[in-house]
Amino acid sequence: MKIKTRIAPSPTGLFHIGNARTALFSYLFAKKNHGEFLLRIEDTDIERSKKEYEDDIINGLRWLGIIWDGEIIRQRDRAPKHREYLEKLLAESKAFYCRHTPAELAQEQKNQELEKIPFRHDCQHKYDPEISDGVIRLKNPGGKIVFKDLIRGELIFESELLGDLVLAKDLNTPLYNFAVVIDDAEMEITHVIRGDDHLSNTPKQILTQEALGFNRPEYAHLPLILAADRSKLSKRHGGTSVTEYKNMGYLPQALLNFMALLGWHPATDQEIFSLEELIQEFDLNRVQKAGAVFDKEKLDSINRHYIKQLVPAELAKHIAPHFIAYNLNPEQLIKTAHLFQDRLNRFSEIKDLAGFLFDAPKYQPELLNWKNSSAGETKSNLETALMVLEKLPIDSFNIDTITTELMPVANKIGRGEVLWPLRVALSGLDKSPSPFEIMEVLGKAESVARIKKAIDKIK
Ligand code: GLU
Repeated sequence: MKIKTRIAPSPTGLFHIGNARTALFSYLFAKKNHGEFLLRIEDTDIERSKKEYEDDIINGLRWLGIIWDGEIIRQRDRAPKHREYLEKLLAESKAFYCRHTPAELAQEQKNQELEKIPFRHDCQHKYDPEISDGVIRLKNPGGKIVFKDLIRGELIFESELLGDLVLAKDLNTPLYNFAVVIDDAEMEITHVIRGDDHLSNTPKQILTQEALGFNRPEYAHLPLILAADRSKLSKRHGGTSVTEYKNMGYLPQALLNFMALLGWHPATDQEIFSLEELIQEFDLNRVQKAGAVFDKEKLDSINRHYIKQLVPAELAKHIAPHFIAYNLNPEQLIKTAHLFQDRLNRFSEIKDLAGFLFDAPKYQPELLNWKNSSAGETKSNLETALMVLEKLPIDSFNIDTITTELMPVANKIGRGEVLWPLRVALSGLDKSPSPFEIMEVLGKAESVARIKKAIDKIK
């Protein structure tokens, strides 16, 4: 039997991290078992489905490197198939028309919930062959629905409590719980892996499968992704979609690696995994039942790991969008990127960290003073440093020569006394890379100009 899994996102919003994690686990499981992973866009909700969201999902999967097999399947194109099966169920009297509108049924459900009575969808129009308008519902055969979830173990549902399921608004408008059964069966999906927010749909889908005589796939319901405060992950936690994380400056390989650890535990304490390694190691048996906490610091640390691996030119490409207004040349970008490579958690931080390189530093003259140094001492130390630096030829103004010339002076006068004011003169900040590193990026002319400005600031 060929293993087949799928991701079945609805294009009604940006590609959610939870859906991306489901896609990843479905992909890993399929690939590990030499099977196929399919993409089905569930666009039957005509009002809410949007092309831009579909593009966001497709681009998000591609960006992450979670590549599906074969063509993209669009649920809407399958409407004739859905209709065929609705007609079959009606003809076999396994389904019937009901004049209740979906809104009335929803109201009925609400009332019953308020009165704490299980929702039964009881319908007085039941089994009336004269009626062929209204919604189409499945006759509930009653009894227990038992299935073994690969993550949650055996689960038992009373089908009575589900009432007569609404399958479609009409012959041409199937609802999710019906269309999903037809499509999974026709696509020969062997393992339905999805978020456990769908757990309550599974018994409904099983009832429909049984009415149609379809094979039952295996089910694996993945734990919900929670924010650090154990609430549902939402916008206020920084972002919920793949696109948002991309824009914040996370690398796809880092986000992918991080998502793999949202609920899955490798057998060792290894944390960094390539996609290939994940395929090797992934095991549904090692997926937890309890909610998986989205630990942003872990994501940052994984991202930092991958940023450190980038070659300078690659890194420069990632930071370039943050410096569009500055018209930097490629060499400046590479130097800037290199200067901060080990400090970046994500690319969007670069502007705050490196902005001082391209904007005139702003600071109070007092910041120039090292500990107990007086303004006069600071000024004279800066003048001494300036003299040394001005003597260096412009084309060998690099870390090595600057260090060789400046360090003996700093060692003589005092490292803090010389290097602190120099660093502040160059950066305007109380924390920054060393003055040597900054000067290499700024070049001689700009470095000298900034030091002179600092000297002028001191009264
Ligand atoms: N369209 C559903 C969703 O976006 C698919 C659920 C399933 O995998 O069956 O959540």
